[in-house]
Parts: sequence; C-alpha cells; structure tokens
Amino acid sequence: MKFRNEVTKGVFCGSFLAIAFLVMNAQAIAGDKPKLILQITVDQFRGDLPTRYYDRLGEGGLKYLLDKGVVYNNAHHAHANTETIVGHATLATGAHPSVHGMIGNIWFDRSKGVTTYNIEDPNHKLLTEGADIDDSTEIDPTQKAASSDGRSPASFLVTTFSDELSSLTAGKAKVFGISVKDRGAVSMAGHSGKAFWFSKATSEFVTSSYYYNEYPKWVVDWNAKKLPAQYSGKSWELLHPKDTYLFGDRDGQEWEFDLAGYGRIFPHKFDTSDNKYYSTYLTISPAGDELTVEFTKAAIEAEQIGSDDITDFLGVSFSATDYIGHFFGPSSLESEDNILRLDRTLANLFTFIDEKIGLDNTLIVLSADHGGPEAPGYLKSLGIPTGYISPDSWDKQPAIDRIKTKFGVPGKLIEGYDHPYIYLSNEVISNPEVDLLALEQAIVDELVRFPGVSTAVSSTALARGVVIDNYLTRAITNNYNPKRSGNVYVVFDPGWFINDLDGISAAVVHGSPWPYDTFVPIIFAGHKLKPRTVSRKVHTVDVALTLANIMGTNSPSGASGNVLFEVVEQ
Ligand SMILES: [Zn+2]
Repeated sequence: MKFRNEVTKGVFCGSFLAIAFLVMNAQAIAGDKPKLILQITVDQFRGDLPTRYYDRLGEGGLKYLLDKGVVYNNAHHAHANTETIVGHATLATGAHPSVHGMIGNIWFDRSKGVTTYNIEDPNHKLLTEGADIDDSTEIDPTQKAASSDGRSPASFLVTTFSDELSSLTAGKAKVFGISVKDRGAVSMAGHSGKAFWFSKATSEFVTSSYYYNEYPKWVVDWNAKKLPAQYSGKSWELLHPKDTYLFGDRDGQEWEFDLAGYGRIFPHKFDTSDNKYYSTYLTISPAGDELTVEFTKAAIEAEQIGSDDITDFLGVSFSATDYIGHFFGPSSLESEDNILRLDRTLANLFTFIDEKIGLDNTLIVLSADHGGPEAPGYLKSLGIPTGYISPDSWDKQPAIDRIKTKFGVPGKLIEGYDHPYIYLSNEVISNPEVDLLALEQAIVDELVRFPGVSTAVSSTALARGVVIDNYLTRAITNNYNPKRSGNVYVVFDPGWFINDLDGISAAVVHGSPWPYDTFVPIIFAGHKLKPRTVSRKVHTVDVALTLANIMGTNSPSGASGNVLFEVVEQ
C-alpha cells in the first residue's frame, strides 16, 4: 500500500510532474488489487484452536495462513452476545450489533408479538419447496423460532463490505456467500450478493427468491450430482491412528452428547441417506465442510469468480467446528480430528484457488463468529470449577410477586426470555405510570441473587448512560439496539452456562461476553502479504474496514472499527 501514500503526497504537490506521477500510480493501484477477496469464517473456532495442533497440520491449509499471513493472536468480538449471526454480521459490516441490528440468533419482535429468527423473511421464500422443513430441528433447533420459510438480509440495518464492493464497481464485482448455515451465507453476501446454504431437508444447496427467480443451471447440475449421498453407509473415521491424537485416549467422555444413532465413539456412522437424520449427521462431521468446499469450487468455476480485473468477493463459512463443539466440546477427539480435517479441506480450496486465480491474486481473511467454552466435565477433570446452571429450577415467583407489588403491576410482568434478554410485557412498558428504569433495576437486583448469575444490566440504564463503565457493560452496550433488545441483559458466571441449546442438551453452549467466547483468530493472507504475528488487542469490527481500506471502497454504513495497519501498511 506504499503507492497510496505516494499518491497522497502527489496531490499536495500539485505540479504537473506530480499529476503525471499520480496517474501512473493510480494505474499501479488498480493493478495492485486482488482479483478475489475470500472471507472465511470458521464457526466456533476459538482463538487458540488454529495453532493448538500446529505440529500435526499438513501443508497448504491452516499452515499456509499461519506461516504466510498477518496473524492477530489477540482478537476479540467487542459485543456481549457471542452467537452465530451476531459474529458473522459484525465481521461482514464492521459494525457492532447495536448498529447492524443482529443482536442475537433470535429476538422478540414487539411489533408482531412473536420471537423472530434473524434472517427470516416471509416475502422471499426458498426456491426449493420443503427445503426448510427439517425433520431434525430437535438437533439444530435455532430455526424453530422462524415463523416463515423465507430468508433474506432484510433485517440487516447497514451495509456489508461486500455491498460497498458492489457499489464501488457498479455492481460488476461478483459477490457470493456460501455456508451450511443459512445465516453464515446470507450475512456474507450482504444485500447485493448471492447466497447459498445447505438444506438438511433436501441435502441440497438452496437459496431464496431474494437472490434468484430460479436456480442457475450450475446449481441444478451440482445438486443433481448428489454428492451428499456419497457418504451413505459410511462413517466419520479418524484421519490418523488413534494413539497419535492428543485426545486419543479420551474418546466417548460422559459429558459428550449421545446423539441417537451417531453416538460418542468413533467411528460415527452416517447410516444411509434415507435416515431422517442422515444430512444432520453429515453436518456434525467434517463432511459438511467438505461439501461446502465442493459447492464453492463449482461456484468459482461456473461464475468465473476472480477471473477478471474487477475484484470479486466470496464469503465461505464453515459450520462443522460449531456443531461438533456443541456436541463434544472443543477439547475432544472429535474436535481434534475435525480441525485436522478442516485443515485438509482448506488446503483443497486453496489449491483450487491457486490454480484458477492464484493465491498471490487472492486476499484471504479468516476469522470466527465466536469462540466457545470448554465442557464443564472436561474442566472438572482438571480441577477447574465450572458447571451447568438450571434457571428452570429457580423459584422466580416470590421475586416476581415482590416486584409486581412494588410497582403496582396487575397483569403479566415478563413476556419471555430470548437469550440473553428478558423482555417485559408490552402492557408494562407502554404504561406511562411505570418507572421503567426503577423496574428493570429491581429485576436486576433480584436476578443477581440467583446462583450462577454474574450480573444483569438494565437496557434503560444503558440507554440513559447510568451504568458503570467497564468492559462487560461496554460489550452489552455494543449489543443494545433499542428496537430489538430486551429490557434486561443477563450474564451467567464465567465457565457456567445452561445445558440447553434452544431446547436440547449440549456439551457446550457459547453466547457469553467472557473471553473464551469472544476470542477468535483474525488472519489476513495471500496477495503477497508479508508474514507477521501481532499480539496487540484488535476487534472483529476491524476486519470490514480493513478490507474497505485495501479496496478503496466507501466505509460500510455502520462500521466503527479501526483499519488494521499491519495489513495495509506493508
Ligand atoms: Zn453454535
């Protein structure tokens, strides 16, 4: 990026020579842009995980990024609710959830009186009928909250970097988002790109009418090949001999989730493709990411991504780490093998891109939507205090009665709890007689008496700036959107969480503001970047602005991070 500084100097000089110099270097800048920006998000890839098995990594995958890239090893999300859509949207927009609006995987929509799923949109149905009907929602139930089968980025309140790239290039940049998870794909594609995700109901990559009226031929052809069925009758086997693994003697720990038919012990059988859980099993294994890469390669080929001088954008989000983390914990034989296989899957993608586009012409940025906690059973085995908490067992009624009496609330006080917010009833919040600040504070005072609750924060107090300023309240402020956030934000003790993933028990559940959930990698590589390791604290809101700076686009409309100078001033 040294050219840019010289251009700036040229402008101030103002002489004919300087103008000639400017023109010359403007051409140099155009030629200096990557042909492709590949934004990779690895779901629940906590900041320590990329290097945890460094000695076991192969060539050309994670090692390529770690050895050749600018590696930020102290990067964090700056928001409190460390969930999938929240992190993806932050990485895509450079904005905090308070501004981009994706404050949680679900939130209570006061205007409609229902809990809503982040990217649901009744106006844009999936192009494949029945693709949203998932027999196995009890295994991946987040989307159960969706009251419609449509999907689009309509609820994103700001632009993504990819939107700004579209804007810069008069829509000529090709912009795609691809993931097993719909929210992983839609977030990266932004408003202006195209998104594809994996339907567990049909074992196909699908999209909605927001993006297309009908499927492009290459997508029909790819789905017709039925690659997911190739795993039928097979199992997830270990990549290497069991005794070579750090967790080789820890297969099948009691805290791991014993999923019917899939089990806790290797090999994990996929069964045959007529099993209603078959495609779900694939997603809780490295197969989900392998299929994502095969579909991505087909997209690169068919759409000629990265083939001309207009920089294209491809966002790929890998979901296996998250599903496997939830079921087995990050310190398990399953997670260890999955990282070694993710490494091979990335190498497969990078090799393909090197052949088609060239890694020197491709700027890669890898991060994660959130980190993740250790399974309490694992921590206990090491003597570290931890546990599951069960709010269902709390006798909340006396506390609620006390508050209702004090504030003269006759009817319903609490509408519901959509993690991490308690929503008060419409009746209460629309009553001008009620002192909302005092009421929320009274709830906070009652909540912090329950075991396992670290703190709780009143949204009205946040909005009025009357909370103590510390890193926790700043993270909760970054999560606070007045239209979507609830009335009280609840934080559990570090290392303690509810053994419940939207209705099912799980080994681990992320979503806290504690460092194990906010800690993620940020690695920029390719495009002739010089390797460097940076240990200063940086934030995920910095990623989109850094991309915008490199490309000379407008700033994404809600972005508030910093440009990562180690990447742009090389
Ligand atoms: Zn998750």
